[in-house]
Amino acid sequence: SREAAKVLNKPISDTNVIVAHLGNGASVTAIRGGKSVDTSMGLTPLEGLVMGTRCGDLDPSIIFHLVDQLGYTLKEVNNVLNKQSGLLGISELTNDCRGIEEGYQDGHKGATLALEIFCYRLAKYIAAYTVPLGRLDAIIFTGGIGENSASLRRRILQRLEFLGIQIDEDNNQRAEVDHQNKVAPITTENSRVPALVVKTNEELMIARQAACLIGQ
Ligand code: AMP
Repeated sequence: SREAAKVLNKPISDTNVIVAHLGNGASVTAIRGGKSVDTSMGLTPLEGLVMGTRCGDLDPSIIFHLVDQLGYTLKEVNNVLNKQSGLLGISELTNDCRGIEEGYQDGHKGATLALEIFCYRLAKYIAAYTVPLGRLDAIIFTGGIGENSASLRRRILQRLEFLGIQIDEDNNQRAEVDHQNKVAPITTENSRVPALVVKTNEELMIARQAACLIGQ
């Protein structure tokens, strides 16, 4: 969100963004004026988006169903929800987004379903997070999938066209970010809300927060 504020030429205190951090673990966060006001994660990262092997949102009754009807132990439930669900569980193919996209190209039904659910869930969260923000200055894609998969970004932004978002497909295909060129815009000049690809840098954020904690 700091990098986005710089590119938007706005103070962070007046910048509202939604960050889609899409890696093997994935989350969406609504950030108002540099502060997170809502996130798809819960007590643990299990809640929210469909992830590589984590299920994301589901009806908690599934736990009682697995235990009472199907005889799972709690340890097995924990394992299935964290390690055998998400893209892997839905596709019955792989937890790796590249493999899911290849599967989709080859007409694999599970991969197609996994891709659809992943994109639908994410678009739904992004739309929902316009509520706490009121005004949206940018949508940010980051993490291994967010930074590298142009086709996933396109699928998600196409579902959000009603927000006035217009993807620039050439820029989307070309978007490459690294620690030098941290931000790549992927929407047209007329897009009501810009979408940006931003290089993730979790280590820097951890270091900053640790320094803050020890008063540096
Ligand atoms: P991370 O946890 O941030 O390292 O991200 C890992 C995820 O990024 C895996 O699901 C990879 O399949 C995905 N990923 C990396 N490169 C690409 C790519 N070029 N296209 C699609 N997904 C990718």
